[in-house]
Amino acid sequence: MIHAGHTASAVQTAVDLANTLRPIKGEDALETVEQLRDFLVGRPAGTDFCQLTRADLAEVRALRETVRAVLERAAADPTEAAALLNDGLRRSRATPVLRHEDDRWWTEVTSDTDRCAARLAATTLSALASVIATLGPARLGVCAGSTCRATFVDLSRNGSKQYCTRTCAHRASVAAYRSRRGSR
Ligand SMILES: [Zn+2]
Repeated sequence: MIHAGHTASAVQTAVDLANTLRPIKGEDALETVEQLRDFLVGRPAGTDFCQLTRADLAEVRALRETVRAVLERAAADPTEAAALLNDGLRRSRATPVLRHEDDRWWTEVTSDTDRCAARLAATTLSALASVIATLGPARLGVCAGSTCRATFVDLSRNGSKQYCTRTCAHRASVAAYRSRRGSR
């Protein structure tokens, strides 16, 4: 079962990390240590990294490649996505931890290192792994918007998401309407 609060925010962190790169527009929102610090504020992987360096930035950018590859390929090639996830989890020294708060118990995956990227890897990769394990690999995807290519994870009940946002879905339906009218 997906733990609603923690896993959902870890899933969102994975998607947000992948989407700091906009491949079609060629925009990259993770080019400086300051941008990395801003990205990490309020994230479940923790924000107590007082000394982020260029090395952390390089490691997180490498992690982004893995996260994006998993999100892009899981539906078509779940075996490859699983191999990427397992390799990343092993390299980040991901460790399950049992937590207790307000009469509730849950497990969380963290890294037993103090490397920022390793902790972010343990959080994001384990969240994607649990989505695949509970809802299936088709829940990971890439926006069908022709000029978008943002990634998403569909945690909805019916699992029919095709677009990253309502904005993209609306743009596509307007374009389809115009092309129908135009072809008359
Ligand atoms: Zn989109």
